[in-house]
Amino acid sequence: MTDNPRIPLAGVIGHPIAHSRSPALHGYWLKRYGLKGHYIPIDIAPADLAELVRTLPRLGFVGLNVTIPHKEAILQIADIVTDRAALIGAANTLIFRKDGKIHADNTDGSGFIANLRQNAPQWNPASGPAVVLGAGGAARAVVAALIEVGVPEIHLANRTRPRADALRSDFGAKIHVHEWVQGANLMDDAVTVVNTTSLGMTGKPDMTVSLHRLNPHALVNDLVYTPLKTQFLIEAEERGAKVVDGLGMLLHQAAPGFERWFGLRPEVDEATRQAVLSA
Ligand code: NAP
Repeated sequence: MTDNPRIPLAGVIGHPIAHSRSPALHGYWLKRYGLKGHYIPIDIAPADLAELVRTLPRLGFVGLNVTIPHKEAILQIADIVTDRAALIGAANTLIFRKDGKIHADNTDGSGFIANLRQNAPQWNPASGPAVVLGAGGAARAVVAALIEVGVPEIHLANRTRPRADALRSDFGAKIHVHEWVQGANLMDDAVTVVNTTSLGMTGKPDMTVSLHRLNPHALVNDLVYTPLKTQFLIEAEERGAKVVDGLGMLLHQAAPGFERWFGLRPEVDEATRQAVLSA
């Protein structure tokens, strides 16, 4: 008997899932590298999560991406949770190991950093403070990653203050929490500014934090990538700042999972971007 004669299957689980761009991305990479494998969107209701996730390896699945609303709940189902996923409190990448154990990791933070490094090679996060707007799941991954690359302090503002306070108690003294309405006043000496809220996304309200005091030497990033160029990034660019959109984070966070499941580290380049944008 051969080790594993089946074609590897992977996918993304969420509820709903039709909007996900991950199938287009992984499908593009599979085709580009001529690899055997399939990557599919799977809609799983929260009540079915544990049972269905445990069944998928038996069907030939080697792993999954996990998106809203399962990113937190999946930690209770996984057998092995990486330190960074535990700290962030959410996982986005599962590996179904041959010994039957489910390994959960969070690659959002490394995807966030890889996107900035690729598109702003001069960026030196250790050279000054960062401003993070928002304190949701994505903010936790961004804050963990910024601390890891040596950001000296992070000014954090969130509409709901207790959520920001919780982040400070989890991530420590480098985090300074401010009222949401003070957001504009944090920008003067920021080296890095990140919008991790859903404001500015198609169908959501516009960003309410003004950039009129933005340091023109700052690097400004928006995690929102629909539209690709948000009003927040347009305003930052008008004020002379370097801007990076959020699509690259989506592409980079996907690469480690693809490598583990299909055996090859995919390249994130302009062709990859175009493949996802045109899907
Ligand atoms: P989440 O946990 O639901 O957090 C949403 C955040 O947006 C919270 O900070 C929330 O503040 C804030 N917010 C929502 N409506 C607001 C409003 N009207 N005024 C002020 N703040 C508001 O979601 P998430 O998972 O962190 O995702 C946040 C965004 O990042 C989404 O747009 C998501 O698509 C994007 N994202 C992108 C990538 C990527 O690869 N580029 C990866 C992950 C996430 P409250 O706490 O006050 O509700």
